[in-house]
Amino acid sequence: MTYQNYSLAQLREADAAHHLHPFTDHKDLRAAGSRIITRADGPFIYDTEGNEILDGMAGLWCVNVGYGRDELADAAYTQMKELPYYNSFFRCSTPTPVLLARKLAEIAPSGLSQVFYGSSGSEANDTAVRLVRHYWALEGKPEKNHIISRNWAYHGSTIAGTSLGGMAAMHGQLHGAVPNITHVMPPYAYELAEDGESDEAFGLRAARAVEEAILEAGPENVAAFIGEPVMGAGGVKIPPASYWPEVQRICRKHDVLLMLDEVITGYGRTGEWFAAQSMGIEPDTITTAKALTSGYQPLSALLVGDRIAGTLVEKGGEFFHGYTYSGHPVACAVALKNLEIIEREGLIERVRSETGPYLGKALKERLGDHDLVGEVRSFGLLAAIEIVKDKAAKKRFDPVGRAASCVRDHAIATGVMMRAVNDTMILSPPLIWTKATIDMACERIARALDLARTELRHG
Ligand SMILES: *Cc1c(COP(=O)(O)O)cnc(C)c1O
Repeated sequence: MTYQNYSLAQLREADAAHHLHPFTDHKDLRAAGSRIITRADGPFIYDTEGNEILDGMAGLWCVNVGYGRDELADAAYTQMKELPYYNSFFRCSTPTPVLLARKLAEIAPSGLSQVFYGSSGSEANDTAVRLVRHYWALEGKPEKNHIISRNWAYHGSTIAGTSLGGMAAMHGQLHGAVPNITHVMPPYAYELAEDGESDEAFGLRAARAVEEAILEAGPENVAAFIGEPVMGAGGVKIPPASYWPEVQRICRKHDVLLMLDEVITGYGRTGEWFAAQSMGIEPDTITTAKALTSGYQPLSALLVGDRIAGTLVEKGGEFFHGYTYSGHPVACAVALKNLEIIEREGLIERVRSETGPYLGKALKERLGDHDLVGEVRSFGLLAAIEIVKDKAAKKRFDPVGRAASCVRDHAIATGVMMRAVNDTMILSPPLIWTKATIDMACERIARALDLARTELRHG
């Protein structure tokens, strides 16, 4: 590899001189220098100093089959030699996106048998918004174009993605959101449930907020509701079981389409191919990306339900939308092989019946009593740890975000990569983690919490 001709200092210097990173305070980065990851294998990543770090985030929620898969490299190599690229515009097609579309139709919840490709989750959500609004226009209801979303939602970082999302800091830099998108409360019981309110009652109340927003805009003006089945970047906020069925009932009652953003939850993370199946709901669109290729290639697939697709095909004429790399043959070849690996190794079944329940239990038993831990929660292989100053009062350290950043830094130093969202610690490991890997992670996180306690309480 060519980078091996360069020293760590040279790489860091060039990084600071030329590279504008995503979601980064550049002044901070340039002062502190970046952590440069040079290789990875199985569940581990390695930095330039040779540190071995357990990757508790599967890259960025995406490397579901783990690192170092020769089969995926071979699939890309073979496809690149045969046909590195051709487009899917103008009634052209190439084999791998076709075969992948057929495969996705097979594993998707029933009624979702059509696929529109892009290269990222953000692009797929742009497609979803355009498609849903186009659908209602084709149905003779162009005014039915409002979309209801939620505070704390993450739907990507393009202008449409940011507008759909409910991140206040991102909206603050948007200088003009896509119109007709409104945000309601998320189903985040830890902070938003009333004292004594049951989980079930809270889930129904959070769903009622969706109905109130629909009624306020007027159901005749509302195209769709969009949500992540489990909110990811917003802090692994897991809804009570009562939430999604009630949201679906409300959407149907008002003839509002249901859009699920499964960019994180798709492809096994919740113990089913899609969280729609875990939650028992039937959405009209499912946005997927990340784990579709386990991150080995950039690719997104918007799964489109028969209701929308039927209208598009019958009444649509040309839909003036698409990307140069829609249905990229190399990315689709890698996705096909990735789905084959997930199936062959029984990774989804393993999450459902073994590692998912074990992760929840291990985190609760080993970390739940720690005095910095306000709550531990998990769903499949998604988990969150709330960091607090005072457990009983659910009081946070001041300023918000300091405590979890401190835990994260200690976690990385003890050898487990985690993320901090405000004062919530996040885990989203590869599906190849075993019980032994989970034990190793819990041990390291416990050590990081102890070190953070010393620093936060006495530092
Ligand atoms: C990551 C993510 C996106 C955006 O995907 P990109 O590939 O980064 O554009 C959208 N929705 C959710 C739920 C995500 O986690």
